[in-house]
Amino acid sequence: MNNLLNNVLNKCREYTKNGTVASYIPELAKSNPEDFGICVVADGGSFYCAGDFSKSFTIQSIIKPIILLLALLDKGEEKVRALVGVEATGKPFDAFNYSDQALKCENINPMINAGAIALCTLINGDSYEEKFSRLLSLVRKMADNPQLEVNQDVYISEKTTGNKNRALAYMLKAYGMIGDNVDDILDCYFSACSINVNSFDLAKIAFIFANKGKNIITGEQIFDEKYARYINAVLVTSGMYDGSGEFALDVGVPAKSGVGGGIMAIVPNRMGIGIYSPALDNKGNSCAGIKALESLSKELELSIF
Ligand code: GLU
Repeated sequence: MNNLLNNVLNKCREYTKNGTVASYIPELAKSNPEDFGICVVADGGSFYCAGDFSKSFTIQSIIKPIILLLALLDKGEEKVRALVGVEATGKPFDAFNYSDQALKCENINPMINAGAIALCTLINGDSYEEKFSRLLSLVRKMADNPQLEVNQDVYISEKTTGNKNRALAYMLKAYGMIGDNVDDILDCYFSACSINVNSFDLAKIAFIFANKGKNIITGEQIFDEKYARYINAVLVTSGMYDGSGEFALDVGVPAKSGVGGGIMAIVPNRMGIGIYSPALDNKGNSCAGIKALESLSKELELSIF
């Protein structure tokens, strides 16, 4: 497997030149577009890594399935579905016009910014600091890494420039979907997007989703299998922004990308994959990351379809 991963990186490295690093969050523009790393956790917990797998980057939108998970754990499916729907939008992650219909809960998806911002309000906690701290604890637990922390530079950069997210949150408030103070909610959301992880962390998190909520290394059932099914289904239709359809055809597994350059791919009952390569295509997905997953999927017959 280590050889395979090294070969995949060598073969796909040229695609890092096809994209550019995100710059709308100024701090992200400092990433090195040539970085490329991958990690796979499989076979009962063995892990295989290649390239820049230990490089840190911010989790960005890959936190969205975990925000959804914590909202489900805290409030249950009915309350979550009442606030945020599950239909794919086919629109960019930060779109205002995510549906041609009126702004209604069922038209918001948990993998776009508006949905994730709304879901922060459903996390239990007396304050948004407490909600965020519970979210960070869950990420640390799933990644089996108590060291995970917020990248303060990215957090400040995003908070300073995040006017589109601020506008989205005020729209949600105007339509009565969220009630709390917008700045508090966004602080939780921006902090969540700014958690530093590496490919190994993502692979371990993916491995829990792949194993129906169970950490098969420790034997702990972290969450109910029904939530793994829920989240994996949403990721198939919406995890790769408005590139999710093509990704389903070419790779065929639930996955989530982030503008930090990470991709978390979940191969149900088989493996968790984490990738880092920050040069993004025009939809916000890692160019070389997608190519690496296409190649791995063909080689190991990973598609669930
Ligand atoms: N923090 C980013 C934003 O809200 C996340 C976007 C992403 O990774 O898709 O703009």
